[in-house]
Amino acid sequence: MKTLDALLTHYRELALLESVDALLGWDTETQAPVGSMDLREEQMGALAKSLYRLRTHPEFREGVLALNSKALPDSHAQAQAAKLQKDLHKDLALNETFVSRQAERRVRLQNQWKLARQEKNFSKVSADLQQYLELVREQNARYRDSVGLKTWVEGRSDYELCLDEYEPGFDAATLRRLLGELVQATQSRLPKILDRQRTGQNQKMSLDSKAQEKLCLNVARQMGFDFSRGRLDVSTHPFCGGHPLDTRITVRYNTDDFTEALLSLVHEVGHALYEQGLPKDALHTPCGKAASFGIHESQSRLWENFVGRSLPFCQWLGGQTQMSPQDLFGHLNHVSKSWIRTESDEVTYNLHIALRMGIEEDLVEGRLKAKDLRDRWNADFKALFGLDVPSDDLGCLQDIHWFGGAFGYFPTYSLGNLVAAQLMERFLGEVGEATWNSSVEKGDWSRLLQSLRSWVHSQAAFKKSPDTIREALGGQELSSAAFVRYLDRKYLS
Ligand SMILES: [Zn+2]
Repeated sequence: MKTLDALLTHYRELALLESVDALLGWDTETQAPVGSMDLREEQMGALAKSLYRLRTHPEFREGVLALNSKALPDSHAQAQAAKLQKDLHKDLALNETFVSRQAERRVRLQNQWKLARQEKNFSKVSADLQQYLELVREQNARYRDSVGLKTWVEGRSDYELCLDEYEPGFDAATLRRLLGELVQATQSRLPKILDRQRTGQNQKMSLDSKAQEKLCLNVARQMGFDFSRGRLDVSTHPFCGGHPLDTRITVRYNTDDFTEALLSLVHEVGHALYEQGLPKDALHTPCGKAASFGIHESQSRLWENFVGRSLPFCQWLGGQTQMSPQDLFGHLNHVSKSWIRTESDEVTYNLHIALRMGIEEDLVEGRLKAKDLRDRWNADFKALFGLDVPSDDLGCLQDIHWFGGAFGYFPTYSLGNLVAAQLMERFLGEVGEATWNSSVEKGDWSRLLQSLRSWVHSQAAFKKSPDTIREALGGQELSSAAFVRYLDRKYLS
C-alpha cells in the first residue's frame, strides 16, 4: 500500500464497517429485542476490535506514515492525507490495552451514572468520574508524547485536545468569548422577555400517534428528506444515525403534545439532510464526512428554530392541524427559566451551555475534582439563573455526555446556534424575507435546502471547522451578533 489511492481503498473497508456499527447502534435503540442485548454487546465489541486492527494494520500504517503531502496533486488529496496521518498518530499514541481499558471504564461510568441518576445522588458516581478523568489526562499526555502529533498538540491546552474531537481546529478562548457575549446578552434581556410573555400556555396540543406519524412523514418529505435512502422510526431519545445513503431518524410521540415529536423531527431531519447532502464522490473517505459537531448542529437548529418555530411555519401548521397559528407560535416559543437543558427554550439555552463549558474545562485541566462537581454546578447555576437546584437529577446528573466520556462536546450546541443565525441572515439577504415567509406558509421550503447544500453540505470535511464555517458564511467571521439580533426581533420588537 504505497499510493494514496491504495490507502483510501483500505480506508473504504474501514468506513463501511463503521457504518455497520452505526446501523447496529440504530437497531439497538429501535428494534432489537431486550433478550438480545448480551449478544449485541459482544457483536459491537468484536466489531470495535476489528476496526482498531484495520486502522493500525501494519501495511496501512507504513503507507500512511510514508505519505508525502507535497507530492500530492491537489488540496483535496492533501487534506485526505493529513487526516489519515493525524488519525493514525492518535491511534498509535494509545495502544490496544489503553483503548480497551478506557472502553471498559466508560461502560462502568455510564452504568453507575444511570444508578446515581435514579437515586438522584451524584456521590454514587463521583469516584468513577474521577477515575475516568484520570484516563482523559493520560490520553492527553500520550498525545503530547507522540512525535507524530507534535505540531497538533503545540500551543493547545488539554481541554482543546478534547475539543478537537468535536470541533477540529477551534480554540477555547474564542468559544469562551462567544459564550460570554451570549450570557451577557441573555441576562440583560431575559427579565423583559419574561415580562412581555403572554400568559396562559394551556392550548390543547393533543393528537394521536398515528396522526402525528403522518404529519411527521409529511414534514420530513417537504423538508427534502429522501425516503428512498432513509427511514423514520420510534426510539426513547430522538436521534439521527446511519449513513448518508441510508439515514435513520427517530422520534418519540407524546399524545398530549404533538409539537414535541414534530420539533424533534424537524431537528433530526436537519441533521439528516446534511448527511444525505454530502458529496457522493467523497463517501467512505476520511474527509467525506460532516465537518464538525457544531456545523452539524447548525443544520438541525436552523431548521428547528429558524423555520420550525417561526410564525410562517405555524401558519402552515395551523392549516394542517386546524389549530390557531398564534396559539402554536406562543406554545412553541414559550420562554422560562428551567433546570433541564434539553427542555429549555432558545433564549435560555446558551446559559445552560456556558455553565457546562466552564465546568468541563476545569475538570479536564484538573482544576476541579469530580467530588466537588455538584457544589460547583449548583453555585454556577444559581449565579446564572438565580435558582437553587433541588436535586442532582435536575442538576449535574441530567446529561449523559461526561458520563459517556464526552468532554468538549457541549460548546458545539451554542456554536450551532450562532452559525445557524448567521446562515439564516445570509439566506434572507439573498432571497428576501417576504418571499421566504410566503413560501414557508405554503409549505415550500426547498429554497433553503438548496442554499445549505451549496454553502455547507457540499464542503464535507476537507477543511477545519473554523474555515468551513467562514466559507459557509460567505467569508464573514463567526460572531454572536446575528443571534442576538434574532432574539431582539423575535422576542422584543
Ligand atoms: Zn442535534
